[in-house]
Amino acid sequence: MTELKDVVCPFCGCLCDDLVISITENRITNNKNGCSISRTKFLNHLEDRIVQPTIGVDDSKVEATLDEAIQRAVAILANSKRLLVYGLSSTENDAHREAYKIAEITGGVVDNTSSVCHGTTILGSQESGEPHGSLAEVRHRSDLVIYWGANPQFAHPRHMSRYTRAAGEFVKDPKNERQIWVFDIRKSMTAQAANRFVRINPGSDLELLNAMRAILRGHKLDVESVGGLSLTEISDIVTSMKNAKYGTFFFGLGLSQSKGKHRNVDAAIRLIQDLNSYTRWNLMPMRGHFNVAGANKTSTWQTGYPFAVDYSRGYPRYQPGEYTAVDLLVRGECDALLNVAADPAAHFPRRALKHLAKIPIINLDPKNNMTSLIAEVNIPTALSGIECDGAAARMDGLPLYLKKVVEPPMGVLPDREVLRMIFDGLRGICE
Ligand code: SF4
Repeated sequence: MTELKDVVCPFCGCLCDDLVISITENRITNNKNGCSISRTKFLNHLEDRIVQPTIGVDDSKVEATLDEAIQRAVAILANSKRLLVYGLSSTENDAHREAYKIAEITGGVVDNTSSVCHGTTILGSQESGEPHGSLAEVRHRSDLVIYWGANPQFAHPRHMSRYTRAAGEFVKDPKNERQIWVFDIRKSMTAQAANRFVRINPGSDLELLNAMRAILRGHKLDVESVGGLSLTEISDIVTSMKNAKYGTFFFGLGLSQSKGKHRNVDAAIRLIQDLNSYTRWNLMPMRGHFNVAGANKTSTWQTGYPFAVDYSRGYPRYQPGEYTAVDLLVRGECDALLNVAADPAAHFPRRALKHLAKIPIINLDPKNNMTSLIAEVNIPTALSGIECDGAAARMDGLPLYLKKVVEPPMGVLPDREVLRMIFDGLRGICE
């Protein structure tokens, strides 16, 4: 038996880097330190796999060799007038580079899954900036932590135990020296584990954050309550935030995707910026997929923009709402989809799915899913962080290197290699 230490977990945006993985004869037998989601991902990595490339849809689906599948994919992409390349959040950074090259050479659009989660956060940051810090700072320094519209106990199971309930260099006794508050519309699992739960009215985030900011700036409000909280309660909260030595404001889709969307994030950023006039505050989105933050970063490095990038004029253009995957599909604009490590058929709205059902899909994924059922070409790939190495970015932006812990099934290659083969096939046709 071999034991690999300091393995990074490729599941959620926490990218926990302390797993100890036991391997016997190329089989993972134990995952020490991982949460239940992580253990399931590692120990069941061979279950429900796409074992062979396939070509064709429904009853005409037949098994193919990798070369045949690549040739079919190249033919579809080369004939496409408006290709959509989508996904990328559950694969490593080198695969992203190859996907951007394909979008560029075909004059297509490339978008990642942040357009349906924290894309609004990015828009808010582009409007107002990013009062950002690291997770290490949170653990070592933060004496007041707020989770707003986020439920990490459910979605990021080790977030609290690693960063907000753990002792740090300057917060040695977190039970007594750190407060954890949850702002949400319902008492979530995280709220039950927190020191304080603040229930707010659904859809009232924007007005509440702006009221907090106004009170912080010394304005008098001519109302008795905002968002379900009395002015006295809001004033108390603001005073505590102002008096914190180091505050952290984590937020989830409950803020970024509720009524107000990027305006909510904009208001939260401005509140945190104002608080930084008095003390130190750090704001951080709770990123979901393990490398969705990386997809935004690599997209920005290579195209200049974090998502929703169009290459139809030969140079990158950015327009969320115009070049975002769901919008393109709802308007029936794209005529082929290259999907990498995502499952749009399971998550997109019905109007987008209607168009998805009409166009050829090339699907790269290790596992069977809803998209693989309707894809014209399925190409199995290695699981990033388990069967292939590569870099990924944690929710605070820290890059971490994913380890390869076992060999992939015979003949299965990493996303980056399959994408490179597709790109090489397109070069002769599109250049
Ligand atoms: S919290 Fe997330 S990254 Fe950490 S072990 Fe669990 S699933 Fe993996």
